[in-house]
Amino acid sequence: MGTYRNILLAVDFSRDSESVGQRAAALARESAAALTLIHVVAPVYQEPLYDGVLTLPLDLEAQLVEAADRSLRDLSQRIGAPEAERVVEVGTAKSVIVEAARDRGADLVVVGSHGAHGLGLLLGSTANAILHAAPCDVLAVRVPG
Ligand code: AMP
Repeated sequence: MGTYRNILLAVDFSRDSESVGQRAAALARESAAALTLIHVVAPVYQEPLYDGVLTLPLDLEAQLVEAADRSLRDLSQRIGAPEAERVVEVGTAKSVIVEAARDRGADLVVVGSHGAHGLGLLLGSTANAILHAAPCDVLAVRVPG
């Protein structure tokens, strides 16, 4: 079995993102693999309820995407991988991450897992869905909690 060449790290900005990221960055260094950080922003829906009285800024989604990109850049520096590519997309985390892994030819997806909440018991969790649908290996980094 060869080493990994193209690692995709899924970042949800929970408090464990840094330790999960450090594991992914170390793996990327050891295998001289490319590392891509991805964050998925949930779509912002405008409720017509307060139409004309209270409206959300139209570019709220764009602002969230920009803020996420800045945070990914900060994280890439903190985990010692400032050269890592960054991807921010809007959608449903599990399907966007699986699609990105496929489109980019990733050979490893790294996610965080909260033990019982992450992999086994909680159906429909993001980590669980990625594990079942990813076109490549998935590393679930166990985080406390
Ligand atoms: P969960 O199954 O929701 O506990 O999430 C487990 C892992 O899935 C997180 O540690 C991240 O690696 C990944 N993940 C969850 N939500 C997102 C998101 N919005 N963007 C990127 N990765 C995510």
